[in-house]
Amino acid sequence: MREYTTELKSGITRSKEFEKKRLASYGVNVGTRCGNGCLYCSTGAVMRMHHSFEDVGESPFGAGYSIVDSNTPGRVARDARRMRHRGTVQLCTTVDAWAPESRRYSLGRRCLASILSQPGWTVRILTKNAEVVEDFDLVRQHADRVLVGLSITATPEKGAVMSVIEPNASPNHDRLQVLKKAHEMGLRTYAMFCPLLPGIAHHPDQIEKLIRFAVEFGAEEVFVEAVNARGPGLRMTQEALEAAGHVAEAEAIGGIRKRENWSRYVVDLIRAVQQAMRDVFEVDRLRFLLYPSQLSPEHVNQIEQDDAGVVWLRRRGNGTT
Ligand code: SF4
Repeated sequence: MREYTTELKSGITRSKEFEKKRLASYGVNVGTRCGNGCLYCSTGAVMRMHHSFEDVGESPFGAGYSIVDSNTPGRVARDARRMRHRGTVQLCTTVDAWAPESRRYSLGRRCLASILSQPGWTVRILTKNAEVVEDFDLVRQHADRVLVGLSITATPEKGAVMSVIEPNASPNHDRLQVLKKAHEMGLRTYAMFCPLLPGIAHHPDQIEKLIRFAVEFGAEEVFVEAVNARGPGLRMTQEALEAAGHVAEAEAIGGIRKRENWSRYVVDLIRAVQQAMRDVFEVDRLRFLLYPSQLSPEHVNQIEQDDAGVVWLRRRGNGTT
């Protein structure tokens, strides 16, 4: 892993996108490239114009490197103090403050402490790294103002497949254990199942199992998202799975590279998640985050027949995902 640093300008920023997602009104990001290295990651496509990629001589769509700013906690502390309108901050929205390179500078803990030192702020943690558990002492001191979330992307049996796709993130098994520990400690938790990939985590039985986990770890809400087809992520995921001998999973990923099949996969995923929420939890707690612009008109109509728990993001037929 090639580790780079950069100088960013922002600390806490307003995020209308995450507000629409009902996740947070503000975001903090500790860098521009996350070292967890998930092959399906769409951050490169979103951030491709940022100067830091050119500065370090890497392609925003490349792999095997990270970019962080170790001074982020200072800017976050400044903004947390100065900003008058306060609310929920997501840590982070485009990278992971507990990824290996971020932990080297304790960026997650230091940002968390900076925000929580000021009244009126709530923090929504989102990570794929079990090491966040080491900061639960700090979370416990502000338990009513922190929501703990670790993205869960598959049931634990899929560990071998997921280690190919998410090479530097903690195994899903460990992430689930940390969520259970948070619940046992009386901390607030939420579920983030994102992305649930075809051939890996979209069968109704697998989804029901995931929702049962959410019940077990006391999730206040359940957020779900389909994989974003933007950028080269799906191709890279398919190729890596093929090379590692996971042929069936690779084929399933390859299938949704066709827009029509992606659209079908999203409809099936929504239906399976709604069913599981109704069977074992409460559908009112579901937030299925849906960008409909890449869906076929027929599938949009189908979803509209029963869109319980669906959070529509951007108007239909509008722009990119
Ligand atoms: S944890 Fe998130 S931001 Fe980091 S590589 Fe994976 S998908 Fe991208």
